[in-house]
Amino acid sequence: MSKINNPTISVNSGLRPSYIHVNLDRITDNFHAIRAKVGDTDVMPIIKANAYGHGIEVIGKHMEKLGAKNLGVAFVEEAILLREAGIRIPILVLGGILGGQIPLYLHHDLTLTASSIEKLEQIDKTAEEMGVIAKVHLKIDTGMERIGMHYYSAESLLEASLKCKHLIVEGIFSHFANADVSDLSHARLQLERFNEVLSFYEKRSLPYPIRHIANSAAVLQLPESYFDMVRPGIMLFGVYPSNEVKKTIEIKPALTWKSRVVFFKVVKPGHPVSYGSEWQSDKMVRVVTVPVGFGDGYFRSMTGKAEVLINGKRYPVVGRICMDQFMVNIDWDSAYNGDEVVLVGGDEECICVEDLADWAGTTPYEILTNINTRVPRAYK
Ligand SMILES: *Cc1c(COP(=O)(O)O)cnc(C)c1O
Repeated sequence: MSKINNPTISVNSGLRPSYIHVNLDRITDNFHAIRAKVGDTDVMPIIKANAYGHGIEVIGKHMEKLGAKNLGVAFVEEAILLREAGIRIPILVLGGILGGQIPLYLHHDLTLTASSIEKLEQIDKTAEEMGVIAKVHLKIDTGMERIGMHYYSAESLLEASLKCKHLIVEGIFSHFANADVSDLSHARLQLERFNEVLSFYEKRSLPYPIRHIANSAAVLQLPESYFDMVRPGIMLFGVYPSNEVKKTIEIKPALTWKSRVVFFKVVKPGHPVSYGSEWQSDKMVRVVTVPVGFGDGYFRSMTGKAEVLINGKRYPVVGRICMDQFMVNIDWDSAYNGDEVVLVGGDEECICVEDLADWAGTTPYEILTNINTRVPRAYK
């Protein structure tokens, strides 16, 4: 890992004036708020995609310290990063697997997702060859059509799993396609299908593996989907999965993104700003330059819409957002080199991840997960 990504480097080290500040207390509070809501149900923090941009190793360790019994990620590489950071609790890799990766999972004591009979049998065979017992969660597709055994043929996967001698089916899960909207009829249909698949165990008087299906949206809106464990991701970081969800749990954002003014100038009318010369002022204005761009994950598509806070006041970003810099029109106010610029965060006047998502025409998920690793992260 390059030095610039090392979270231990102080934000005052002079390396870069731009940084992400992660308030770990907020994440603690969000985790506890979710726990309080789901009661006896276990909470598996989902920390894929660099913990939604917040830094996977630090967040993983923080979750372990908070007493999370397990973690979930998308890819085996993410799980290995966590193991290398010293995290010992079980880690479920939610994504699809390729046969050649199975030894890697087993070597690092990771929990695998078996999304077909073929993959299940590959896991069993590899575990036998390596002389270990693999830990597996069965993935059922109840209406997402992404990965998993279709609910209508899932019985054969469950049957097959009973015959495997070198793996333990620790869990069985599915995933909602539409839990983040106000019309929950499709989510309820998926839930019904999942319950039908699960009746396999009851009919055979077998104990249930850990049953789980709820993402953040379902944690907020569908208590009947909690089962034995829930899998919240974005909510841990204090961001709601959509504008439509019922905010039944109070959460607070953990991330602030700041930079500093690196250049000040006066721009005359008739002198357009930035690539394409698309924006110009009709009067003399003061314009400052901020050393952040789409190469950091500050989306170019926010051009013409984005705003930032300087000294607590909102100002428009003008001209096209470049790869490493953008310009801000401060009208005739003053701002000096080194003054703080808030891209996300703020106190009374505040810019939310949701605002950036609106300006970029995307979701908060995409904003958070695109904040590049070249932006140093600092933790409180
Ligand atoms: C990403 C993901 C989650 C968490 O989703 P959020 O909407 O961030 O809560 C849960 N389960 C699976 C399978 C996922 O891929």
